[in-house]
Amino acid sequence: MTVKKQGPEELLGLNKFAVDEDEPHIVIDKDVCAQCKNKPCLVVCPAVLYTLKDGAINFDYAGCLECGTCRVMCEKKGIVKWTYPRGTFGVAFRYG
Ligand code: SF4
Ligand code: SF4
Repeated sequence: MTVKKQGPEELLGLNKFAVDEDEPHIVIDKDVCAQCKNKPCLVVCPAVLYTLKDGAINFDYAGCLECGTCRVMCEKKGIVKWTYPRGTFGVAFRYG
């Protein structure tokens, strides 16, 4: 039997997401984020959902793995809301 080794991108691509368009489960305050010097969210999110756009933090909750790392590592409390998605929404992990 041959086992195919998959990289992180491939494995993440297997997951399915039901995005709650009406109620984001994570919300950031961009004014607070603008005062955040180190912006650890840019490097700790395993799904790379925090990015810089024109020098400002850009965040998209679609694709969130619900790991909670950004909540723990947020340096200036710029994350003003962090909850799990409402029932039936969010990530469904698949392992290939
Ligand atoms: S909970 Fe995890 S996957 Fe979701 S945005 Fe935060 S760090 Fe990224
Ligand atoms: S670590 Fe928190 S406060 Fe700093 S940029 Fe990221 S979300 Fe904003």
